[in-house]
Amino acid sequence: MKAVVVRPHVPGSLRLTELPDPVPGPREVLVRTLEVGICGTDADITAGQYGWAPPDREELVLGHESLGVVERVGIAVSSCAPGDLVVATVRRPDGCPNCRHGESDMCSWGRYRERGIKELDGFLAEHYVEVPEYLVVVPPALRPTAVLLEPLTIAVKAVFQAFKIQERLHWEPRRALVLGIGPVGLLGALLLRARGLEVTAYDRQDPAEPGPRLAQETGASYRHAEDADLVTTAPGPYDLILEATGFSPLDFQAVETLAPNGVLALLGVTGGDRRLQIPSDRLNQDLVLGNRVVFGSVNANRRYFERGVADLERFAALWPGLTERLITRRLSPAEFVAGESRREDHIKAVVEVSR
Ligand SMILES: [Zn+2]
Repeated sequence: MKAVVVRPHVPGSLRLTELPDPVPGPREVLVRTLEVGICGTDADITAGQYGWAPPDREELVLGHESLGVVERVGIAVSSCAPGDLVVATVRRPDGCPNCRHGESDMCSWGRYRERGIKELDGFLAEHYVEVPEYLVVVPPALRPTAVLLEPLTIAVKAVFQAFKIQERLHWEPRRALVLGIGPVGLLGALLLRARGLEVTAYDRQDPAEPGPRLAQETGASYRHAEDADLVTTAPGPYDLILEATGFSPLDFQAVETLAPNGVLALLGVTGGDRRLQIPSDRLNQDLVLGNRVVFGSVNANRRYFERGVADLERFAALWPGLTERLITRRLSPAEFVAGESRREDHIKAVVEVSR
């Protein structure tokens, strides 16, 4: 079968290759890949900055945002059947207490593996094999949007965790701020609008670009990050903030826009070593006297994929045809390998592996 592989930590090593067809065991499922979404992590791996090949191999099959169709199931598999649409979860547990309880996203040992990222092949291949525990069946009506389920789970988990944390008090959140409207931030804005919150989206993108326009079509308002800082442009106060820019200085400005008892979820990954002077007394005072919370969140276990399926259905009912417009570029595997996903004029690029 055809597959897209990369040699981690070797820039420019992305290539199309032929691999043996995988054969499912009695407890496994053979999936034909339909689509694979491309994100910043894939860009980092392709650029040689991240990623680990499976042990004893030099190359890794890329791709972790997937949608496929079940082609064949092993004799002992009953939870899905040929023809089912499925999205695979990404992280695989180590033996730590959280992983043992199905919460590999809360792994405490850090020896987890991730398909398409860390020591396990990804989904950018014509077929893959997986056990049913890591496959989430999606209804046929979600065929146009289900490839967005994996990035959606990042926002689903953050919002779930925020509400969980806020069980510490009586909380009726009204105003939310989403920092950065790449795919994750946009999906977060949809999620919060679907929950009835007043949403402000903040980004550097020109208001006429597709992302800001999509956000506004859901009833969110848009603030353009120009020269002024966040506190001036979007002063709030906000009950819930999702930070999804990957620009760490914004984290500290965001604290200053939090309402009393508010909660700030940090989702952006920042691999650099940026340093910053901060008004530490004032920030500390805000956190203490306002009972404010800042927490980090990384995706995502099966629970959030299952919730995300229901959220995608809700988005389709609220805004027919809107969610699929996040996919602004469709590429063949060869076009992807040639670098076509790196153009910046899109929200989400998806590689079409089969139909
Ligand atoms: Zn673990």
